[in-house]
Amino acid sequence: MAARKPLLRIPYTDVFAAPRTIPRHATTPSAAVAALSAFMTAPPPPGLPSSTVVLTGAGLSVASGLADYRGENGTYRVNKAYRPIYFHEFLASHEARKRYWARSFLGWTTLHKAMPNTSHYALRDLGHLGYVHTVITQNVDSFHHVAHPDIPSTVELHGYLRATVCTTCYNEYPRDTFQDELARLNPVWAEFLAEAIEAGAFETEQPTTGAPAPRTRSSLSAMRGIRTNPDGDVDLPNAPYTTFRYPPCAHCLANPPVAEDGTKMIVEVDSDGAWALPKNISQTDSGTKVRCPGILKPAVIMFGESISPSVKHAAEAAVDEAGRLLVLATSLATYSAWRLAKRAKDRGMPIAVVNMGGVRGEDVFFAELDDSQSGADGVRVEMPTDAVLPPLVDELHKLAPAGAYQKNSGLEAGVVDPALFRDMLS
Ligand SMILES: [Zn+2]
Repeated sequence: MAARKPLLRIPYTDVFAAPRTIPRHATTPSAAVAALSAFMTAPPPPGLPSSTVVLTGAGLSVASGLADYRGENGTYRVNKAYRPIYFHEFLASHEARKRYWARSFLGWTTLHKAMPNTSHYALRDLGHLGYVHTVITQNVDSFHHVAHPDIPSTVELHGYLRATVCTTCYNEYPRDTFQDELARLNPVWAEFLAEAIEAGAFETEQPTTGAPAPRTRSSLSAMRGIRTNPDGDVDLPNAPYTTFRYPPCAHCLANPPVAEDGTKMIVEVDSDGAWALPKNISQTDSGTKVRCPGILKPAVIMFGESISPSVKHAAEAAVDEAGRLLVLATSLATYSAWRLAKRAKDRGMPIAVVNMGGVRGEDVFFAELDDSQSGADGVRVEMPTDAVLPPLVDELHKLAPAGAYQKNSGLEAGVVDPALFRDMLS
């Protein structure tokens, strides 16, 4: 028997085949909604629960203005030059961390202003209607957490950007206050960010010739058209990352952790309290050989990092406690997401997929499905989720027992100006 491998998060860049529409006639939003309604209300297979587990991905947040890793045809389109940082690089290299946190410092503004969209609120409503108990998401933007904090419950497969976590003591801190600390430690960057926002750097893809010249540093012009990646960082070529400073874990700073050999691991800081490379440790191009204490990372599963066993088990339990799987706005490109769909398939759960572009392994998921069935046995439509989920809620609401549900649309106010994210949607 093979050894159990850690479940790593890794990028996957293959292009998937164009999907087949199931049922065959579900080519319009209204036909797709009818098929999904049949899917959600069909009796579960014998021995399985009647509720639906939902699995979401980056496409769900596109309508909130966040970038998708993939384009509408499933191609890797966000930014050809984009290479996410790997966990081992982050741990080993002070320079890599400076670069990461500088990019994250700039990207946080966009992410922090973004709000859940109608798809997230439709899932809240499906939860209140009793159809969905759990949403498993690969997204790290916390939109599910905001839109439906209680019902349906959310398993954040790849963690969340709303907190940082210490790689030594595992204490978590709010990302908001961390941002304030980054601004305090990097006043020039903070000024740079304020000017970039004022200059509309988050709004335009290309500098326009008629735009007023940046008032200060010439590098500001390079910031126009900042792209925020799905993990909340931005691309900024040639920026002086090496000047960036970031704080250590406050707990480890005050209470030096003890190494396995019994020695205290002192967290070094500079005169302003920024994390500093311990004096007896040299930094090479590939980073340090030793694990330095008190390093904070975003509370996301970085590429190359293992998903914690508790999260892995929670996601598996959510699949095991449901009778069908609804996959929304993800190509299932990451193994950690694909294996959950495979698990559902192996349990005999009907599967519905709403996604623009192909989905990893979907030919297998739908192999034996009759194209003329109503949708009760499975659905595959290539549409944006915001075109089908709100009308699906309306459809199911008509079927709900009286008094079982009160539609609450008050939280949908406050959607941000979509122009802010124009560049990311192009
Ligand atoms: Zn710590």
